[in-house]
Amino acid sequence: MTPTYLWAPPPVVSLPVSGRGERLPVNRVFCVGRNYHAHALEMGKPVDKRVERPFYFTKSPQAVVASGVTVAYPPETTSYHHEIELVLVVGQAGFRIAAAQAHAHIFGYACGLDMTRRDLQLAARDKGRPWDLGKDVEQSAVCSAVLPMPGVVIEHAAIALSVNGITRQQSDVNQLIWNLREILADLSLFYHLQPGDLIFTGTPEGVGAVQPGDRLSGQVAGVGEVALTVGPPA
Ligand code: MN
Repeated sequence: MTPTYLWAPPPVVSLPVSGRGERLPVNRVFCVGRNYHAHALEMGKPVDKRVERPFYFTKSPQAVVASGVTVAYPPETTSYHHEIELVLVVGQAGFRIAAAQAHAHIFGYACGLDMTRRDLQLAARDKGRPWDLGKDVEQSAVCSAVLPMPGVVIEHAAIALSVNGITRQQSDVNQLIWNLREILADLSLFYHLQPGDLIFTGTPEGVGAVQPGDRLSGQVAGVGEVALTVGPPA
């Protein structure tokens, strides 16, 4: 029997898929923290891979918005930062995935922006509080169309972000501290990964604040482009 609800259930969050009529339904949004050395350094938190493991935070799937949108400058911040990232899209469920088998769980990739209320994130970080108010910001997970690349592990690709035509972030995915196989293996120790899970794999150095009116354009070579315009405060 079809259940009835008190009100209309929230819509399915989805992304367009390049070359396909079907859209990709988004399940969860995982984000890797501090996964490029130069970015970890600019945050004042260098990473020693020999003694550390990756760590994660999440965004609500409802925070996902498609590339090309204008998003109002968010409330309760004076330091809204851009983070360009390669986004891995899980296509096959997996738990305790072996790194050598990680490719089998990849559907494809997108180019994403992990927009961040940096002032709130750092205040929380320094008080030992959760990062949600800094990271799980409404409309903060900006995502390009998903490019199907089943079974392909991206090992190097130029990644860059410009604001109003001026380059702010520029690196290569080969600079990831924990590579895509290692992330899938580690994250799947904690979660039963599902098709439609998005993994924002971390941002390179050069993060910085945006202002109302700014136009952001990011690229991951061979994957796609993501665009965002920052609107006036809501
Ligand atoms: Mn990030």
